[in-house]
Amino acid sequence: MDTKNTNTIERAPVVAIMGHIDHGKSTLLSYIRKSTEPLNEAGGITQHISAYEVEHKSPDGKKHNITFLDTPGHEAFCGIRKRGASVADVAILVVSAEDGVKPQTVEAMNSILESKTPYIVAINKIDKPGVNIERIKQSLVENQIYIEGYGGDIPFVLVSAKTGEGIPDLFDMIVLVGELQNLTGNRQKIGEGIVIESNRDTKKGISATCIIKDGTMKKGMFIASGIASSPIRIMENYLGKSMEEASFSSPVKIIGWDAMPEVGECFKVFETQKELREYIETEKTKKPTKINYVNAPTSANSIPVVVKADTGSSLEALVSEINKLQTDRMSAQVISSSIGNISENDVRLADGSTKAIIIGFNVKVDSPAKSLAERNEIEIKTFDIIYKMTEWLAETLQTRTPKVMTEEFLGEAKVLKVFSKTKDKQILGGRVDNGSIAVGSQVKIIRRDMEIGVGRVRELQQQKVKVSEVKEGKEFGSMIEAKIEILPGDYIKNFIVTEK
Ligand code: GDP
Repeated sequence: MDTKNTNTIERAPVVAIMGHIDHGKSTLLSYIRKSTEPLNEAGGITQHISAYEVEHKSPDGKKHNITFLDTPGHEAFCGIRKRGASVADVAILVVSAEDGVKPQTVEAMNSILESKTPYIVAINKIDKPGVNIERIKQSLVENQIYIEGYGGDIPFVLVSAKTGEGIPDLFDMIVLVGELQNLTGNRQKIGEGIVIESNRDTKKGISATCIIKDGTMKKGMFIASGIASSPIRIMENYLGKSMEEASFSSPVKIIGWDAMPEVGECFKVFETQKELREYIETEKTKKPTKINYVNAPTSANSIPVVVKADTGSSLEALVSEINKLQTDRMSAQVISSSIGNISENDVRLADGSTKAIIIGFNVKVDSPAKSLAERNEIEIKTFDIIYKMTEWLAETLQTRTPKVMTEEFLGEAKVLKVFSKTKDKQILGGRVDNGSIAVGSQVKIIRRDMEIGVGRVRELQQQKVKVSEVKEGKEFGSMIEAKIEILPGDYIKNFIVTEK
């Protein structure tokens, strides 16, 4: 492959939107998506994948592409920074003009700083009556977010995700910040990038949304992320349209993976299956960087669980506790475990399995995740004490354990005489050959070693006295309810059925 600089060209910035809950991240993303997205042929309904591309015309008339990550949970953003790469080229820190800086604003900023991603502050909700922008700027400065004109050089824009005011300025700023980074890519190279979403669908199988950070991928090639791989056979753009090839900064959805690739993990593309296999072999020898049970198959007698926690150590403890919990007929199976708040991605992941649940530990549930979970009837439970989680999950396992009927053999009797039969009720005499016969229990009627029917013992008598049970060796009279006509010489096998 030619990797000479002549092939290196400008690349569109990939943008992540971060900030405190309720400050308007989702509203901003959906405004941008709606205001820029071309309608598809079906009449404007497009599938929801976790990134999209927009085209923006800057004041000088030049057209620029921008890719937005539509993942308010930021797993991709946070996950990858630990490995030294970053999916986003530019981050937007959304701060509500009503509330100012909040704990998650600081958390988001710390993530941004750690990943060394340049960022823009978007002061949102400026349409709200009575907002005091000056006060918000002060709160930014008090939290060491030194914006332009206030002792620092962090660009900021005033926006309203509701009315769209200021959004063109935000786009101009993204383009500018992107240009300052001199983002480039080489179309001649083989594609590589980051997985930002993965999904398991019972019908379609496993799909993953990937952001190409460099190079090109074409149909007929192969893609791998960790030990998960897929032929590039079904490749769609963010609108769900099939593509023959895709290049940098574009989000693509690849369908047909053999296992769930991990969100935030890098992917590589290969021209031949041989190269792919070699790569997978070397990946298999590597130690996993994160606890990952994503590929464990779920059986009918297990509850698939998506686990989210605040830190790596609590995640590890949680997964180990969950794995310990199982009865002989039911277990919990962790299908994914990662750090961060419960996001829409997690709900989609859970939605791919039947009756999956999401367990969060010391994390919050993003509001879009909450509404998606309600719509799709996915149960989300959050805890701050591990034993409360184990208690709850143990009970859930118990209630969801499928009931099994067990037959307990009580005894066997030979039918000696049949006195009468009215409808289903038959009066007969017999002798218990082994075990016992009890009132209320079920019987199997055996003729010449064949089961010919079933019935129930309604009454028992020993020497004309009503009894509830007759033991081995004793003769008895009995009223048995059965549809089959019982004959002398038949055997009745007595058993009780219990549900467990
Ligand atoms: P997120 O948790 O950061 O994704 O916040 P959301 O996008 O869910 O927004 C939280 C609430 O603020 C919702 O009720 C939005 O309608 C509202 N909101 C978001 N942006 C604006 C805005 O610019 N103006 C006004 N008036 N309301 C907004």
